[in-house]
Amino acid sequence: MKVLVTGGAGYIGSHVVRQLGRAGHEVVVFDNLSTGYRWAVTCGELVVGDLADEQALEALFETHRFDAVLHFAANIVVPESVSNPLKYYSNNTRNTLNLLKAIERHRVPHMVFSSTAAVYGMPAETVLTEDLPLAPINPYGASKMMSERMIMDLAAASSLGYVILRYFNVAGANPEGVLGQATPEATHLIKVACECVAGVREGMSVFGTDYDTRDGTCVRDYIHVEDLAKAHVMALDYMARGGESVVLNCGYGRGFTVREVIDVVREQAGVDFPVTETGRRAGDPAALMADNRRITETLGWTPDFDDLATIVRTALAWEKIWQDRKAGS
Ligand code: UDP
Repeated sequence: MKVLVTGGAGYIGSHVVRQLGRAGHEVVVFDNLSTGYRWAVTCGELVVGDLADEQALEALFETHRFDAVLHFAANIVVPESVSNPLKYYSNNTRNTLNLLKAIERHRVPHMVFSSTAAVYGMPAETVLTEDLPLAPINPYGASKMMSERMIMDLAAASSLGYVILRYFNVAGANPEGVLGQATPEATHLIKVACECVAGVREGMSVFGTDYDTRDGTCVRDYIHVEDLAKAHVMALDYMARGGESVVLNCGYGRGFTVREVIDVVREQAGVDFPVTETGRRAGDPAALMADNRRITETLGWTPDFDDLATIVRTALAWEKIWQDRKAGS
């Protein structure tokens, strides 16, 4: 297939682009390089541009006849979405609308959308099925929920087919050391802990130790970025075979506490670093895990890296490569 990947120079998008190339797809990446990198586009063509620029989008769709669009480009920092909500409604929701207008005009038949477990908000359940009511508690989750809805409505009114993937906690890096998370000012737990090991942070905080979980810290379902990337490639194959539009959780269906994650990082690195226990971070649900039966049944997806030590090892290896590269440049 000829595939457009928005945000293909970013952390998750770049892993997907690499796998798409290996699967024989022809890739065009559209990315404004605000948080992505040129070097991360390891196959296909990179077009630097912004989804806010409708003329640039039109030119892109006039130049290429896409069989599918994979839409990753977005802002993803929850606290920032709370302090600057309109940035999220612009860059996530409005830009998805711009993209959908081009998809409609050019009758692109397939779309894969990067959504998030944040659309579920603070559910009473800890293992989440896709059919739960959506109740995001921050503008980031709301911006993604609104995007999902626009995709579904356009699909109902046209021949567009979609696979919406709701990511749980994505971590880890390409095991060959070619790609990984390079986001500046990262806030995600495993990345932050890896930066402590690398010495670029003095220490870190555990946000809340009074949750109703096995050790009082939050439980999350950490999925390796390569397994997530595989789900995207399989989603494309599924749509090419005529599969129905569907929403799928992406997670392993089990969780680790914040303390467990930090222990595994210390163990795998063989290095200790200061950890301070502080109060809860606003908007953190106690426990979130994916019910992943639907993705398993629908796509035939099975994980290759369902092991926290492996996730952490690949993240640590990448962190070293990335910090060395930055120091050398
Ligand atoms: N967390 C933490 N310290 C950090 C970063 C995260 O204790 O420096 C906790 C956070 O409160 C949450 C879990 O780790 O309970 C996962 O947070 P992350 O930001 O990685 O992902 P989220 O689940 O918010 O998408």
